[in-house]
Amino acid sequence: MPKKLKTSAKDRKCTFPDCKHLLSIYNHEDYCHVHRDQVSKEQNRKVPYHHPS
Ligand SMILES: [Zn+2]
Repeated sequence: MPKKLKTSAKDRKCTFPDCKHLLSIYNHEDYCHVHRDQVSKEQNRKVPYHHPS
């Protein structure tokens, strides 16, 4: 049995609108590093149950 490396599909693009960044197979996010940062900040702002520890 071949070892299963933890990689994602090839040729995925960042799902951020108008972003053409290709995602690495080692990037399991839906966004490139730029937008992953932006989106997680946006989400944190919108989540009312997220309290900083
Ligand atoms: Zn992007």
